[in-house]
Amino acid sequence: MTIEFSKTIRKVAILNPMTGFKRDEWEIEFRSDPLTGRNTTVIPKLRDYWLRFVKSDYEQLRSLVVESSKKCPFCPDNALTRTPKFLEEEFEEGRLTEGEAVAFPNLIGHADRSAVVVLSRSHYLPLSKFDVNLLFNGLKLGIKILKRWSEIYEHIDFGLLIFNYLPPAGSTIIHPHMQVLGRDRPVTLQKLLIESSFEYTWRNGSSYWRDLINTERELNERYLNEKDGIVWIVPYAPTRGIMEVHGIAYEPLGIFELDDKHILAIADGMSKILLFYENMGVSSFNAAIIPGPLRSKLDYYHINIRVIARPGISRLSFTDSWCLPYLLWDGEAIEEPESLASELKNYFG
Ligand SMILES: [Zn+2]
Repeated sequence: MTIEFSKTIRKVAILNPMTGFKRDEWEIEFRSDPLTGRNTTVIPKLRDYWLRFVKSDYEQLRSLVVESSKKCPFCPDNALTRTPKFLEEEFEEGRLTEGEAVAFPNLIGHADRSAVVVLSRSHYLPLSKFDVNLLFNGLKLGIKILKRWSEIYEHIDFGLLIFNYLPPAGSTIIHPHMQVLGRDRPVTLQKLLIESSFEYTWRNGSSYWRDLINTERELNERYLNEKDGIVWIVPYAPTRGIMEVHGIAYEPLGIFELDDKHILAIADGMSKILLFYENMGVSSFNAAIIPGPLRSKLDYYHINIRVIARPGISRLSFTDSWCLPYLLWDGEAIEEPESLASELKNYFG
């Protein structure tokens, strides 16, 4: 089954003060997400204007890094004394380690069960230093924690691995870390993706995600790469924001079925995207690994990985969490997804 991509092109027209009030016209696109129907407005004309705001004021960033390092609970001297420990029935050892990564419960969690994985000994890392090993170790620990929770807590059946890096991405602590959430229910997007995938398979008799991968591979407009069971694409209708990239597991695997090769492929793709972000002047990002239910295997849902760039550290405190995406749940992309993909292809080889 081939996925259909639908869009409506509209023209914007103004009398532009920059050109002596001559008529100025450009196009915007209303694109529907092929699975959920959610609208994303694609406005390539915004790109150059917005790119100014994704770049950090490096002086300000540097002073924030220095100031925050003085009392950081995640720095090596403090991580073993000032962070919480897991309950004994969860992990007897209290905290977990894997390479440089250290995991412990969140002091004030965002879910029934909520953990933090500190990724590096360094207090600050530019995005190019989020390398494959660092991300691999963090993801390994995150999955190990979800596995344990799902074994001992009957009600925990949904999990997420998420990254919020630097304050513009919603983090209050600079030190590189990720979070692990265990809940009795999916988050809203997870629920929408799972339910919409089920409906698609019920209607068409095939997997949406497999059909999407095959269609994108054939079109080769937004398809980036496939390696060790993880496929990377730029989404046709980005969920929100800037430079959004999606990873999709080629097989409908549960999160505990991911082997080291899959996890390494997720880490590898993410590190390539983050290197691209840094070269574009970005220093802040969000990412999420979105699995189906922890215990049941769904043949119609494939693990999704989503990565977006966020604004930089600046005196303006600019945020892209403005009314349209944040309050009104509409998507907006400041670049044509196909142009973003052609730039990113160089990084995926
Ligand atoms: Zn630190």
